[in-house]
Amino acid sequence: MATAILSIDIAALVENWRSLSAMTRCEAGAVVKADAYGLGVQPVARALSRAGARNFFVAVAEEGASLREILGEGPQINVFSGHMQGDTELIRDAQLTPMLNSVDQMLRHVEALPGHPFGLQLDTGMNRLGMEEAEWSALREVALGQTPALIMSHLACADEADHAMNARQLQVFHEMTEGIDAPRSLAATGGILLGPDYHFDMVRPGIGLYGGMPYVDARPVVQLHIPVIQIRDVAVGESVGYGNAWVARSPSRIATISAGYADGILRGMGPNAHLHTGSSAVPVVGRISMDMIGVDVTGLAEEPETLELIGAHQSVDTVAGFAETIGYEILTSLGARYKRIYV
Ligand SMILES: *Cc1c(COP(=O)(O)O)cnc(C)c1O
Repeated sequence: MATAILSIDIAALVENWRSLSAMTRCEAGAVVKADAYGLGVQPVARALSRAGARNFFVAVAEEGASLREILGEGPQINVFSGHMQGDTELIRDAQLTPMLNSVDQMLRHVEALPGHPFGLQLDTGMNRLGMEEAEWSALREVALGQTPALIMSHLACADEADHAMNARQLQVFHEMTEGIDAPRSLAATGGILLGPDYHFDMVRPGIGLYGGMPYVDARPVVQLHIPVIQIRDVAVGESVGYGNAWVARSPSRIATISAGYADGILRGMGPNAHLHTGSSAVPVVGRISMDMIGVDVTGLAEEPETLELIGAHQSVDTVAGFAETIGYEILTSLGARYKRIYV
């Protein structure tokens, strides 16, 4: 089989959720948007639900509706994009809790689904989603009269503990929510690590569950092993791959492995990327193609059957570094072609 294997360690995922929960006295939800960061929302959400997670967060109502089928009745499913036009039936039928982000959404929600639970999103400076102070002052009394299930905001710089923006947003969140009785939430993974001042009544970890930075103590969750299809000798002066981008300067052994940019191995990683076999690192040579990558295995004593891109020897964040991006983008780019196994 030439299909690469993406293995997802469910026990490690659950342990990450438990250890993030243990850092706070409040409730820890679980963010499972974008197919649980590319790892597969069904097994991920089921495992977290079994472990005791009672609040889940998704980006859009359609994700919420699929999640409801997976989880059944009971857990609260919160939708970050709120109540968009066309969402009403999904929100009603799947019992979703939209995190309303504007007066327009608030009006849409109470008109279409009076009495249906909702949350509120406030903008504390990120300028992405949520009501700003003026809008919020105008709506505050009406909104609070309807007892929101959650009032939340999001930190822009929580992965940089020393960033002045963190304290600024914390203060604005306090000012905007002072005296309010509804449960409040400000922290994602980065915010949890900033300490209890940021935790309020619920935290919303995503990346930390999946083993990514900024949660440095996370247990790794993902391993990616790619089969070697063929190995060949390449003489001095011969090239490998598209555009002849790599030329052998000494006699080389080149393995062609079975994955490429269609599988989320970003083409831009090419010149910097390594894979591993055991503890030996082997460099990518030439351009990453859609379904294949050349790897220099000259130094190896044995011909490998597979090479590891993500796993014990290099983390998701190391791989992200090859493309000057973040672990989040690597995980959510992992394509549909892998055989995903849950261990
Ligand atoms: C994605 C997201 C989260 C989770 O963030 P992580 O950094 O992955 O922990 C939490 N809250 C909001 C609003 C988000 O968009």
